[in-house]
Amino acid sequence: MYLYNSATHKKEEFKTHTPGRVEMYTCGPTVYHFAHIGNLRSYIMEDVLEKYLRFAGYDVNRVMNITDVGHLSSDADTGEDKMLKGAKRENKTVMDIAKFYTDAFFDDCRKLNIKTPDVVQPATGCIDEYIQIISKLVDTGYAYLAGGNVYFDSSKLERYYIFNDHDEDDLAVGVREGVEEDSNKRNKNDFVLWFTKSKFEDQALKWDSPWGVGYPGWHIECSGISMKYNGEYLDLHCGGVDNAFPHHTNEIAQSESYLGHPWCPQWFHVHHLNDPAGKMSKSKGEFLTVSLLEEKGYDPLAYRWFCLQSHYRKTLVFSWENLDNAAAAYTKLLNRIAALKPEGDVDQAVFNEYREKFLQQVGNDLNTSMAVTAVFDALKAKTNDATKLAVIGEFDKVLSMSLLEKAAALREKAAQAVQSGGGDYVITGEGDPEIDAKVLARYEAKKAKNFAEADRIRDELKAQGIEVTDVKGGAAWKRV
Ligand code: AMP
Ligand code: ZN
Repeated sequence: MYLYNSATHKKEEFKTHTPGRVEMYTCGPTVYHFAHIGNLRSYIMEDVLEKYLRFAGYDVNRVMNITDVGHLSSDADTGEDKMLKGAKRENKTVMDIAKFYTDAFFDDCRKLNIKTPDVVQPATGCIDEYIQIISKLVDTGYAYLAGGNVYFDSSKLERYYIFNDHDEDDLAVGVREGVEEDSNKRNKNDFVLWFTKSKFEDQALKWDSPWGVGYPGWHIECSGISMKYNGEYLDLHCGGVDNAFPHHTNEIAQSESYLGHPWCPQWFHVHHLNDPAGKMSKSKGEFLTVSLLEEKGYDPLAYRWFCLQSHYRKTLVFSWENLDNAAAAYTKLLNRIAALKPEGDVDQAVFNEYREKFLQQVGNDLNTSMAVTAVFDALKAKTNDATKLAVIGEFDKVLSMSLLEKAAALREKAAQAVQSGGGDYVITGEGDPEIDAKVLARYEAKKAKNFAEADRIRDELKAQGIEVTDVKGGAAWKRV
């Protein structure tokens, strides 16, 4: 696989420390509110990356943290504590807020077919690990105490900025909100490893440490959790592009200073989903969620499809019109798959050829729009339906669009409607489940007010020599 590496600013051949094994780390959500669909764009693309790596034969160990402590409203250690802010807003304890929004996050992931990482670790569960790392950093002179806090001394590094090809806008994300000078810092890029009670008297969660009762800074959690579950050599680190600075920059600084050797060579950053008005942000309080999409009648997978259609290194602009287009394309695709007959033997040579092409194309910097095109190409392939279904099922191991399951459900529904006679929508015809499925799909499209799709299906049927007549309570079709 070739993957763009934001640490080297180049597309490179993907390599791992141990052949065949990928140690992969993902920055998890800050659980003080629901995830917005922008956050979920990052998790969808990281999910596709993980599934692609498995598809390509790697054994993947994917680790993710849950930020339930230490993340202040500015990524640069100033402002209010995000978890406290959530707790105050809802009059609950920090732990209640964390539990509620962690569950909500995984519910959203489930609806979007995002696999749960192999290890999910709340930040509050690894305090001893952070203390061990910070102690060594203090002992070796990489960290210092000032005003009750422990800071990382960025001047001790030969090179601090790693991801400096990002837009100024992205670079500034962390320092834009709540700019507030911290006079304890010796250098502007120094960051907090451990806060003591001197910072927030009302901090709900605090732990004893060699530097006083307090709590960890945000950046240390990802280094600590990754080293615990991925080991000393991480192969691939993922996150949204706003995480590159200062969060990932600081993770590298402290991890390499602690370990004394390079830590993670490959960095995967997903660019943002914006709404037409600009940045989507949880802290603004008004944002789009998966539940909202569902309330408006969208299948969450239509949003996944929308994300897959564009490249992860391009900013994506959300609009309802764009989502409608993706939803219509997804429905159309399912209808076409439902019309395939699951009969005959799979042509293994054709299957292998399509699989190999998919592996190559998608392996070019996770080209998901090519993956989408590959499904349509498979539908047009000069082979039997059983082979097409097998190929599509194979691609869906990476895409996770429930293509075969949903298409099978459509066929089933069509068959039931025909058999039941007294059901909601009765189709009478000449006993061909493929045609029944299309007639039903036309009805579903009309019900969803997707008239363009309904007309398209009618025209497709017409081209097959099928005439459909709407009758009371259903439709009748015949070959003409
Ligand atoms: P947070 O819950 O704020 O810690 O963010 C969770 C993940 O979402 C991180 O990897 C962020 O980099 C990412 N993220 C934040 N905003 C966006 C956005 N608008 N589009 C895509 N990813 C985002
Ligand atoms: Zn992180």
